[in-house]
Amino acid sequence: MRICLTGDLGGYYTGAIGQGRDQFGVKGDFVTSPEISQIFGELIGIWFVAEWMCQRRPRQGVQLIEVGPGRGTLMADILRTIKRFPAMMNSVESIFMVEASPELRETQQKLLCRPGEPLVHREGLSSGKCKDIDKPIVWAESLRSIATNADQTPFMIAHEFFDALPIHTFQTALAETSPAKSSSGPIRGTLMEHGPVKDDSQCAYEWREMMVSPVHPAAAMTSAQAKSKAAGRDEIPEEFQLILSSTPTRHSRYLPESSARYRQLKQIPGAVVEICPEASLYAADFATRIGGSANVAKPQPSGAALILDYGTSDTIPVNSLRGIRHHKLVSPFSAPGLVDLSADVDFTAIAEAATLASGGVEVHGPISQADFLEAMGIKERAEMLIRAAGSNDATAQSIKKSWQRLVDRGPNGMGKVYKALAILPENSGRRRPVGFGGDVPSTG
Ligand code: SAH
Repeated sequence: MRICLTGDLGGYYTGAIGQGRDQFGVKGDFVTSPEISQIFGELIGIWFVAEWMCQRRPRQGVQLIEVGPGRGTLMADILRTIKRFPAMMNSVESIFMVEASPELRETQQKLLCRPGEPLVHREGLSSGKCKDIDKPIVWAESLRSIATNADQTPFMIAHEFFDALPIHTFQTALAETSPAKSSSGPIRGTLMEHGPVKDDSQCAYEWREMMVSPVHPAAAMTSAQAKSKAAGRDEIPEEFQLILSSTPTRHSRYLPESSARYRQLKQIPGAVVEICPEASLYAADFATRIGGSANVAKPQPSGAALILDYGTSDTIPVNSLRGIRHHKLVSPFSAPGLVDLSADVDFTAIAEAATLASGGVEVHGPISQADFLEAMGIKERAEMLIRAAGSNDATAQSIKKSWQRLVDRGPNGMGKVYKALAILPENSGRRRPVGFGGDVPSTG
């Protein structure tokens, strides 16, 4: 997943430099919420303003950090909104963009930076000046490259970032030493069925990793031809398949042992879990920046992180690796580097990693995107824009359609499938954030 998405050679996000490829929008592969409506970014901007007010309106040291900023649209909308609150905008010291793709970094720079002013490159970071506010904007390839500073108040946003981080999949199987070991053959695609199990009472199970293995080219073609015949359309050959490792791997020995949520499934035959260690690392990094840790002493926790993505609220994702191309679901094992890959985000794992990493944070949510955006005032803002559109019916209709798409609670609607989770300074749960049932105190 990592190589296909962000590998230097032909990665989906990183490998198409100069080819003018655009992953986003109608002509690309997928459309994201900030690209659907400006209101999305505006409400996230308001969320940060509200948090800043609730955290005693610091006058300086505020950082805005976005991970995986795509075209830069979300940050542009956030900045335009915060600009309406000059006291908060004055408190912002820097804006950071964490972006692996050189091509997307360039797109973001064009949108956000003053034209004609060259970027300054230093210690793996590139910095420029924001277009219409007097603030530095800094690009980094990973969050780790942005120094953690206990005096700063970091406000962090991750929209559709965690779903792009590589997952590992594990399945329970009878341990090698077990007397009733059953044979486990290759498992095609993401179909994770398990064979019959004999005498469970004497069996000890172990975790095995699902590995990506090449398909013989001749077999790949035959399977694609069969599928396209059945479906009456062109099928891209699957060049890879998932197989269950016949022995434990390095990852299977420790990742599924890392939380009681996985450990309790270990004796269940054929149980499957998807684990995203990098998501936990990012969540831990966010938490430490807000709440401090043994290594980063932060006398007063401050800042906030907002994570919006699709995934499960309280169950462990299974079978969720998917490929997306031209707005359609395709096999994640076809056309590597040309197909977007993603997996469901395990919000409970994120909450667990954040609270384990820092005693100075608490987590709110996940709640559905519809609940979050409605509590943030999407209806009021959309109605305001519709009024402003006046007699322009086409604009008014398009605003309405976009608003309703973002909060659609239907089975596959964005309002239901996407969730919001917030990491905040620890407060014994006394203060809920805006959008999650809380309010800004009138005293500020
Ligand atoms: N937030 C944007 C884009 C989502 S697509 C939006 O909602 O429109 C995912 C983004 O994360 C892209 O910008 C991609 O280049 C970036 N990305 C993916 N994996 C990354 C990684 N490991 N490190 C940094 N950026 C990454």
